[in-house]
Amino acid sequence: MTRVSPELAARMKKAEGFDANACFHCGTCTALCPLGYKILPRKLFHDAMLGLEDRVRANIPQIFSCLLCRMCEANCPSGVHITDNIRSLRSLINRQVFGLK
Ligand code: SF4
Ligand code: SF4
Repeated sequence: MTRVSPELAARMKKAEGFDANACFHCGTCTALCPLGYKILPRKLFHDAMLGLEDRVRANIPQIFSCLLCRMCEANCPSGVHITDNIRSLRSLINRQVFGLK
């Protein structure tokens, strides 16, 4: 069962550098990702904004192995700052999950 975390949703709203509101789920990013990630970035950002913590946690390996190559970002028709969002998520996970400063 998916657990909704209002706290995570609130943190994502305030997270520095995170903004995926312009995403309209066109799928261009997932089609172009050289790692073939099916979840990053569009579904992941959606899950994070909704506070679906279990889903975000389940994707920690992908979040940290993204190459930050910007192939997705360069071709996003909505200008979503995808790599900034991934960096922001990494920072949040480092603090919340791994207890790093
Ligand atoms: S390419 Fe941009 S608008 Fe399209 S799904 Fe990815 S992040 Fe969203
Ligand atoms: S920045 Fe990450 S998610 Fe985007 S295309 Fe590159 S590896 Fe894939």
